[in-house]
Amino acid sequence: MTFDEKDLSLIIEATRFAAEKHANQRRRNKEASPYINHPITVAEILWQIGHVRDISVLVAAILHDTIEDTETTPEEIEQLFGPKVLSLVQEVSDDKSKPKMERKRLQIENAPHKSPGAKLIKLGDKISNIHDITDSPPASWSLQRKLDYLDWTEKVIAGVRGTNAALEAHYDQLLNEARAELLAERHQNGHK
Ligand code: ZN
Repeated sequence: MTFDEKDLSLIIEATRFAAEKHANQRRRNKEASPYINHPITVAEILWQIGHVRDISVLVAAILHDTIEDTETTPEEIEQLFGPKVLSLVQEVSDDKSKPKMERKRLQIENAPHKSPGAKLIKLGDKISNIHDITDSPPASWSLQRKLDYLDWTEKVIAGVRGTNAALEAHYDQLLNEARAELLAERHQNGHK
């Protein structure tokens, strides 16, 4: 697939749009990194590791947390980026009216039924989040909570397998490394 000027415009516009929408949000790590670092990283993972060249998927990756975590409306996304991008963003957005545990359960349950594009974004999202757990974790998270988070991502990712071999292999390697690192940390701390 080749990219034209229109595609590059969309990427730049999506990046600007998401940066504006997430402007007042920070990641939960102790550096309180700007939130926008995360969706940009997800798009980069899809591009670099997954060799994803579907413009709608890349644009939706940049926008993937705007509906769930900001005041962005579906109409705004549809108007600026079209129905295909909107549908991908909606597919990867949790329903925030539901309790957190229920949302986590639904992610596992619904993952196998997502479109291939939404599955790619899920893979990129979980890869980015595992990087954050090991490199700059939420300040308040215990070791056990981090391990539980890894277990949960494994269950979600089990439902999207068969989508992109490179991303899945990268996820597996990262998961193993993150677990080994956390378990070594637990051993050092003398827990359990
Ligand atoms: Zn995300």
